[in-house]
Amino acid sequence: MSTNTTEGLLRRLTAGDRAALAQAITLVESQADAQQASAAELVSAALAVGVPSLRVGITGIPGVGKSTLIDALGHALINQGHRVAVLAIDPSSARSGGSILGDKTRMERLAVHEAAFVRPTSTGGNLGGVGRRTRETIALCEAAGYDRVLVETVGVGQNELEVDHLTDLNVLVMMPGTGDELQGIKRGIMEAADIIVLNKSDEVDLAVLTRARNDLQQALHLTHPRFHGRIAKVLTCSALLGKGLSELIAHIDVLHADRLAAGLWQQRRSEQLREWVWASAEEQLLNQFRKELSMDPVRTGLEVDVTYGRTSPAAAARCLVDRFRTSGAPPREEQ
Ligand code: GDP
Repeated sequence: MSTNTTEGLLRRLTAGDRAALAQAITLVESQADAQQASAAELVSAALAVGVPSLRVGITGIPGVGKSTLIDALGHALINQGHRVAVLAIDPSSARSGGSILGDKTRMERLAVHEAAFVRPTSTGGNLGGVGRRTRETIALCEAAGYDRVLVETVGVGQNELEVDHLTDLNVLVMMPGTGDELQGIKRGIMEAADIIVLNKSDEVDLAVLTRARNDLQQALHLTHPRFHGRIAKVLTCSALLGKGLSELIAHIDVLHADRLAAGLWQQRRSEQLREWVWASAEEQLLNQFRKELSMDPVRTGLEVDVTYGRTSPAAAARCLVDRFRTSGAPPREEQ
């Protein structure tokens, strides 16, 4: 794609053309070498023109009601005058090639709203629970004028913590009254949450709901506080009936305003940009490493040696890294 086309795409995207945004995301998600330069150019241009949005991570186990909640939350935010982008991370498995979301049209009401943009993104085998290009996609959404970006992740593993590197604050969705073993949610996930929402409040009676909320709030006092010594707040809602959403939005706004005022939001964004540099450098190095060694007979030989126990995996890896470092790969020209 030429610079002209990239410029054209950016122009259409910033003018609010959702098809152009979708096309731009497809471009940055492309693994094709030929697309890399245009994709990088597009993301740089998007970063330059984009106005930072409020980025909210929404995490929870499958079936807890995340997509129903996002659909309802999205409409409520639009009614307040916001433009909402949803990056729904579809955990398609590299092994099965399938997806647990594949057979379901998610957030379909929100997806057709003109003030919303819903993009299911594959994790592309990325173990982090977020898409390989979620950072870049957020930048494109911001350039397209979306001021609320909801990033959904699925699952309960440590992986969900990666979303914490991309968002301003995180909402963990749980269900009330399903036992105090915390529904398999690991402590680390709880500690990355700023708000915990007990969804499906309509399914339990008020006494059960209140007890679940109090127990959880109590348990949270034993975890590390998040920013500014704040413990995550437990709220309740029914995404299905649209109950408790305004309280959720109000609390998100309060936390955001607090952090802005304390300079914590800016600090977090700077940290995230630095992390982006490292993540990007690692990716570029790894790609180069794999490419260079793909045809290397020494690599194949070492693999055989490892298989027959003649050398250890760590020693073989060291040998490959040394080879890569001394392979005379010319340093990239200064730009
Ligand atoms: P996800 O896998 O976490 O995205 O969950 P979904 O949003 O797909 O919801 C799973 C199921 O729970 C669906 O059948 C929803 O209709 C239902 N559900 C979601 N929110 C609520 C709620 O607040 N109350 C009740 N009763 N059901 C809900």
